Amino acid sequence: MQRSRSSELYEEAQKHIVGGVNSPSRSFKAVGGGAPVFMEKGQGAYFWDVDGNRYIDYLAAFGPIITGHAHPKVTEAIVQAAQNGTLYGTATEHEIRLAKVLKDAIPSMDKVRFVNSGTEAVMTTIRVARAFTGRNKIIKFAGCYHGHADLVLVAAGSGPSTLGIPDSAGIPPSIASEVITVPFNELDGLRLALERWGDEIAAVMVEPIVGNFGMVMPKPGFLEGLCQMTRDAGALVIYDEVISAFRFHHGSAQTFSAFPDQDAIRPDLTALGKIIGGGLPIGAYGGRADLMAMIAPLGPAYQAGTMAGNPASVLAGLACLDVLREPGVYERMETQAIRLVNGLQASADRYGVPLTINRIAGAFSTHFCGHPVTNYEEAQGSDGERFARFFRLMLDRGIYLAPSKYEAWFLTTAHSDADIEETLDAAELSFREMSKD
Ligand code: PMP
Repeated sequence: MQRSRSSELYEEAQKHIVGGVNSPSRSFKAVGGGAPVFMEKGQGAYFWDVDGNRYIDYLAAFGPIITGHAHPKVTEAIVQAAQNGTLYGTATEHEIRLAKVLKDAIPSMDKVRFVNSGTEAVMTTIRVARAFTGRNKIIKFAGCYHGHADLVLVAAGSGPSTLGIPDSAGIPPSIASEVITVPFNELDGLRLALERWGDEIAAVMVEPIVGNFGMVMPKPGFLEGLCQMTRDAGALVIYDEVISAFRFHHGSAQTFSAFPDQDAIRPDLTALGKIIGGGLPIGAYGGRADLMAMIAPLGPAYQAGTMAGNPASVLAGLACLDVLREPGVYERMETQAIRLVNGLQASADRYGVPLTINRIAGAFSTHFCGHPVTNYEEAQGSDGERFARFFRLMLDRGIYLAPSKYEAWFLTTAHSDADIEETLDAAELSFREMSKD
């Protein structure tokens, strides 16, 4: 597959844009380097690059594009919003509608505030927790990514880990010292941290279903124990559901049927993003009314945004969440993911390529290793060079995966049975080639 135009654009981009990309996770540094693919347009489950090559898209823009590219209902909502003026700097009725949809789906959120990204949402939940508790420290889990705010960039999962910079430069030691990182999926580390620093901890922040060192389910009892221990220490539980909300069902991890006792895993605050904006920039945070009352104009903690709640993002989000309410939508994505996972595993096994796949409903991650992946350390132990080889072989057969061994494959409502077949054929040939390496 020839990508000379992408190479030319990459040369040009590097002269003007740092690293040639506007988010490091788009670079191909971790998959052998060189030019990333420059895309021109997307439609449904496909996008086309500037050389005219077509790809089946499993990146889904790192999560938001769950209804596929340019879904007619989402597009119509965006066009209508644009025709009525894109930004007023005032309140609108649309914001109330989206807030209600989110609250109905995620009952732990009494009140909501819209922002522009997942990073902002997470950052502000921490501010609320600090303002409410009068404490400064937070506990997070190794490998979970919570956006690029200073405080959460310590041991920060997919993006930074892919590029070998798990602890970012430019973060003052005074801030880094306010974060304690413990392993995911085991309560002992959390218990020790709470014993040592309990009365200084404002919040425990977690991706309740991890999407940033592969897709990783919490072990039975983990979230329940986390919530109990955190409360006992007088701290707040913050769920970062930027990836997980509306990914597996019309709700979030905290309302997912995989967890039998939802009261026992109810967080105090939740951060959202990605899918709820239907492919336009958005974030949101919400939680208990007394906590949310800490935020201006009601309370003393400040958070604001010129673009926050803009009509285009809100209407696109409403349209997307509406599509996701159509009967059978999630079941279909899950059925296709199962077919893909079974086929991938069978091909890998046939050619002796060690492969662990973690699937949760319509999303999964592929780890080139022979052991289970339940925490960050195990995810790190997968073979990045093998992943890079697989990524390149699939790319050249028109299958677009995230360029990182830590990121997920996302099904969308647009993927067809034929797309799954085409992907499995490409994988079969790719694994066969890898077996000859
Ligand atoms: N939290 C999680 C769990 C994420 O996966 C991400 C982005 N991948 C963020 C927060 C940050 O969101 P954004 O990139 O919109 O700032």
